[in-house]
Amino acid sequence: MHACGEVRILEVMLKKERLFTPGPTALLPQAQAAMAAMSLHHRTAEFRAVFTSTLKRLQSFLETKNDVILLACSGTGGMEAALTNLTSPGDRVLVMSAGKFGERWQKLAESYGMSVDLVQLPYGESFDASHVKGRCGGANAPRVLMIQASESSTGTKHDIAAIARAARAERPDILILIDGITGVGTQALDIDAWELDIVVGGSQKAVMMAPGLAYVSVSERAWKVMETSKTPRFYFDLRRERKSQAQGESAFTPAIGLIAALPAALEYIETLGGRPGLTANAEALGAATRAALDALGLKRFGNGQPSGALTAIAMPQGLDSGLVVKALRQQFASVVANGQSEMKGAMIRVAHLGYYDFAETLSLIAQLEIVLVQLGALDAAKLGAGVRAAQSFYLAQDKAAKAKA
Ligand SMILES: *Cc1c(COP(=O)(O)O)cnc(C)c1O
Repeated sequence: MHACGEVRILEVMLKKERLFTPGPTALLPQAQAAMAAMSLHHRTAEFRAVFTSTLKRLQSFLETKNDVILLACSGTGGMEAALTNLTSPGDRVLVMSAGKFGERWQKLAESYGMSVDLVQLPYGESFDASHVKGRCGGANAPRVLMIQASESSTGTKHDIAAIARAARAERPDILILIDGITGVGTQALDIDAWELDIVVGGSQKAVMMAPGLAYVSVSERAWKVMETSKTPRFYFDLRRERKSQAQGESAFTPAIGLIAALPAALEYIETLGGRPGLTANAEALGAATRAALDALGLKRFGNGQPSGALTAIAMPQGLDSGLVVKALRQQFASVVANGQSEMKGAMIRVAHLGYYDFAETLSLIAQLEIVLVQLGALDAAKLGAGVRAAQSFYLAQDKAAKAKA
């Protein structure tokens, strides 16, 4: 036995850095390795072959017949590309906003001189069809509707199928622009059946890669509108990219390393059953986390539909979430996100999208319990209640699967 009085055990205990943030998310080792090994120049036949097959794979990951354009930028660049290519200054656009990313659509549209119809809900609420009814018809109807699939600032999702249907019933040619940056791979999103004109995704979210690559699916209707849209764009000219991509190239220097990482990530995702499997994994981790919250007497932030991408855990009365973020990082090297701007201090956000498994989710719940006890926000007698609920969730799934087999 070691003389514990001599060694301060918690100080020497090793810690593994783990990202639980809803972007950037945990990195897939195979994708990292592929990125590091890449050394091709982009104007070569070898690169063109990689690029062309990667685009095909991405299209099948997204389960769409629409073109998918790859851009070297973060997710917001993809949103900007969508907006600028499909509008003209002064166009009327409908923005549905219930969080910081909804506000990003609004600010983007205002920056480019659009006339913005804003439908707002309090942070943490979810939109459904009732929120678009009566807003997309008439002589002065908006040309474009913009919304998030999953609002990562609050951990909620919106009912995209119903919203798209309701908007189109009033204006059949309305353009529907989806920020799917945390929605892709975490909730149902049928691009073709729901006629979603644009869906934007980003490499640092469900596809388990480093930041720097955005992907944008573009419908036939959207390509036609681009023929006459007038908002200025240069780097983000989607028609020029489409022409280059058809030749296996991009108009400018592509994010070569990330384009090497992408097929490795998509190949791994295929082993999970593609996007539906990836989505089921994220949703299950979210459900296990919510079971733990219930058992601990904790609440989610807001009353909206829970996103599969992340859980926003509201803090017990009087507890600053910054203290929880700090304690998790210092003691366990686990990095979770605080609330954004006005929501800072009110919540921690824990990711489920992409490369997360049940074991580390269970561990994070256990870590959170320890920290809440230390901060006086959880009675030590309740220690293990969240873990136990998540374990029971697991066993119930196992039992159901065995009964089916
Ligand atoms: C991460 C994220 C974005 C994009 O942010 P970038 O920092 O530009 O990649 C946009 N929308 C949502 C919903 C997000 O989660």
